[in-house]
Amino acid sequence: MSIKEEITRRRTFAIISHPDAGKTTLTEKFLLYGGAVQEAGSVTARKKQRASTSDWMEMERKRGISITSTVLQFEYNGYKINLLDTPGHEDFSEDTYRILTAVDAVVMVIDAAKGIEAQTRKLFEVCRKRNIPIFTFMNKLDRPTREPLELLDELENVLKIGAYPINWPLGTGMDFKGVFDRLNKEVHLFERAVGGVFKAPVSIMDLKDPFVSERLSESTHKTVLEEIEMLDIAGEEFHPERVFSGEITPVFFGSAMNNFGVQLLLDNFLKYSLPPGSFTSLKGETILPEDEAFSGFIFKIQANMDPRHRDRIAFLRVCSGKFVRNINVTNASTGKKIRLSNAHSVFGQQRETVDEAFPGDIVGLIGNSNFGIGDTLTENEAIVYKAIPQFAPEHFIYLNNPDTSNYKRFRDGLEQLLQEGVVQSFQLKNNYREVTVLGAVGPLQFEVVQYRLKSEYNAESVSEPTQWSLMRWVSPAIDESELTNHVLPVGAVLAGDNKGRNVILFTSEWSLQHFMDKHPKIIISDTPFEELEAAKV
Ligand code: GDP
Repeated sequence: MSIKEEITRRRTFAIISHPDAGKTTLTEKFLLYGGAVQEAGSVTARKKQRASTSDWMEMERKRGISITSTVLQFEYNGYKINLLDTPGHEDFSEDTYRILTAVDAVVMVIDAAKGIEAQTRKLFEVCRKRNIPIFTFMNKLDRPTREPLELLDELENVLKIGAYPINWPLGTGMDFKGVFDRLNKEVHLFERAVGGVFKAPVSIMDLKDPFVSERLSESTHKTVLEEIEMLDIAGEEFHPERVFSGEITPVFFGSAMNNFGVQLLLDNFLKYSLPPGSFTSLKGETILPEDEAFSGFIFKIQANMDPRHRDRIAFLRVCSGKFVRNINVTNASTGKKIRLSNAHSVFGQQRETVDEAFPGDIVGLIGNSNFGIGDTLTENEAIVYKAIPQFAPEHFIYLNNPDTSNYKRFRDGLEQLLQEGVVQSFQLKNNYREVTVLGAVGPLQFEVVQYRLKSEYNAESVSEPTQWSLMRWVSPAIDESELTNHVLPVGAVLAGDNKGRNVILFTSEWSLQHFMDKHPKIIISDTPFEELEAAKV
């Protein structure tokens, strides 16, 4: 197969959702279609198996959660699909956001009884900044849900994205009888049975067909007819290009647990998402996937998956060219030359050596190389990809070293962890002494820092809570002298991030809002300003 063909058949995506919406269940069902049945069980099993596997971080075992995200690869209908897991429960962290910089599309799973929840919304915003295709799966239709039209309205009003339902539910809750595929004019009937039952779809002329009316109560049939008519008249029009550019989201109703509507989602996803595309380098050049020179960037670093080796896995997204084992590359971010001999694909606990990989694929590089988040590895030194965006933390602590004689180990350890992007650090300004505050998107990251300082650097640390829960970058156009304590709300402070950029730490959403209302000229953002600029290019 030519490299072009390899690229064309690839799809690289992630599933985003709020905890318990059904991401794991849907992932498992996807894998069934991919024939990765045996492994499929391990996705849910992963949650439980934890306790019995010895080669995981002890902390992970204690908490019974997953700190790691896994990359799943499976084949379906000639496609090669890379599905990146986005940690979402207690292990929600900056990594979850970073993973979204390495995918070409996302599937957003929504619990149809609840609608859009906080975490989905945050993840959605990150995806939107990249204009990638977003597919929506309204899950749990076998149970009572909110009104389908209301769910669509919410997508449009809360997320501000056009919604085009590809299929539409015939009744909800106990009356849920199946879905109507609007593009193919087919009815898929739902049968209540453990694990779901496959029923071939039935073609109909329209919803007035007796095949439909006979199966629905009179009132449900009437409602469905009205809803579809309304969608046809007042709803969005379906254009694949608008899906590709992330302007509209195709919406699917179904039940992951019953494996209902999943194939419809998968087939349409493959049809209306794009193969790996180009990336823009720091210099503004477009790097095409089929370009000859291999290039990729590191979007996640996972430490200590196996404590016996104390190794790290750097996850690399291949952007161009072909990756082969033992390839000689340059880390364009540091200028260092490296031979990539220890490349693996990682599926849960299992690792397999990777001999070759193509654009869209994810390679796990194992070893102790000092890679940093966002590093570009390439055969063509001229390619340097833009840094992975930084995301505003929502949890802050002071981290102190209780043992002054051990200062070097504490400092070196923390420096390394900061380079790996485990947490972010901030220096408080206008303070009589130098104070470092650590910030993270998910609070578990602090435990990771403390655990790793101890286990890898033999450095104790003591954490202390702070009063802050939000931070914003301040526009570089604002002079620091304007940010005095008189201007900032009570409890808020000015600090510098690791690149010396001004940030403000706030105590609450209310305090942040109050500040924004009172000082509209002080422009602040939840992403650094140069990244906002870069995103526009
Ligand atoms: P995650 O936290 O998003 O990965 O969610 P899970 O896949 O673990 O699902 C959360 C809960 O919802 C589990 O108890 C699932 O069995 C249940 N669930 C998932 N899909 C469905 C569905 O289609 N219908 C119903 N009734 N329950 C579901």
